[in-house]
Amino acid sequence: MSTKSNLKTNPDACPLAKKCGGCQLQNMTYDRQLRWKQARSEILLKKFGKVDRIIGMESPYHYRNKVQAAFGRTRGGKIISGVYQSGSHRIVSVDSCMTEDETADKIIVDIREMLPKFKIWTYDEDKGTGFLRHVLVKRGFSSGEVMVVIVGASGYFPMKKKFTAALLEKHPEITTVVLNINPKDTNLVLGEREEVLYGEGYIEDTLCGCVFRISPKSFYQINPVQTEKLYGKAMELAELHENSTVLDAYCGIGTIGLVAAKKAGRVIGVELNPDAVRDAISNAKRNKADNIRFFCADAGDFMESAAHEGEKFDVVFMDPPRSGSSKKFIDSLAKAAPKKIVYISCNPETLARDLELITRKGYSVQKICPVDMFPHTNHIECVVLLTIEHK
Ligand code: SAH
Repeated sequence: MSTKSNLKTNPDACPLAKKCGGCQLQNMTYDRQLRWKQARSEILLKKFGKVDRIIGMESPYHYRNKVQAAFGRTRGGKIISGVYQSGSHRIVSVDSCMTEDETADKIIVDIREMLPKFKIWTYDEDKGTGFLRHVLVKRGFSSGEVMVVIVGASGYFPMKKKFTAALLEKHPEITTVVLNINPKDTNLVLGEREEVLYGEGYIEDTLCGCVFRISPKSFYQINPVQTEKLYGKAMELAELHENSTVLDAYCGIGTIGLVAAKKAGRVIGVELNPDAVRDAISNAKRNKADNIRFFCADAGDFMESAAHEGEKFDVVFMDPPRSGSSKKFIDSLAKAAPKKIVYISCNPETLARDLELITRKGYSVQKICPVDMFPHTNHIECVVLLTIEHK
């Protein structure tokens, strides 16, 4: 579907849109964007049942609680910070963005202005010279805690103490500052090594009544306001009670499973990324959840052995990456035959493909509910409830 033709344009459209490319729908008013997403969801999913009205965001601006800026210089030598132009490594200078947290944007601009005084050179990708590559800011939406990560090309940062003190004076809301060292010629923002310059080296935030530890590298939902709505919907559909046995497949840092563990009897989470599993285990401890266990495995392999061993689940939550689930997972899921499947998807195309397979196994779709997690972009998130009649 075209995003341009015949649409009422957004009076607040972003002046950088063409260069940046991050917000594909910013030329439409928010109301129009929601209708576009609704129509797109219906085209792909209505053959499975009625698509509910998309849950939009009340104030669809400055929702990103994680902001990343690349640093460099123009040909004329002026220091700039911002995002890479889509598909290139040219930096588009951004001082404020309608999707990004405003405090984070201000911190980044102030850091840029502080650089000459502290003799900090920006990194030059072509020559491999200089120091500052990126600044990453994460802000806890309910805690208000702020983490600043300075990504340098080496650990050599002579004025780090004075720089950190000056930054804290300007922004007393900052609760921790971390130096991340990334000497490699890579597209990844963060390197392996870290040095905490101030505070604990992580922040915490509360989501759906659970506390999560957020470190520079850990994955965390970037729009917590809408995540609460998304998970709230998923829990409402799951109708958990104290005897429910739950699987949280593709669990990441355990967010869905930990929220479920407050109501369910027993929860198992499975996730492929070992760092995420480590965070999930520490999140369980932090929340004193003793009815949840995490496994580091491919979700398909895990489901296959669970089905083989006759493990019974009342509810399976599945939240796979954009590429969707696998045939192995879905085949074994059908064998394990949970009463309810709550599928949380960030890509309606792979969702449609997987629903086709799951409904062929005898499940029927009871509810399809799109949620707008990323206003102004073309991303669509959906929660789907499937059930099966047990003979
Ligand atoms: N439910 C989590 C994260 C969902 S993102 C949350 O809401 O925060 C999808 C997750 O699936 C990622 O953490 C990714 O590492 C994981 N993943 C990708 N492929 C996987 C696989 N084959 N088996 C298990 N987990 C996988």
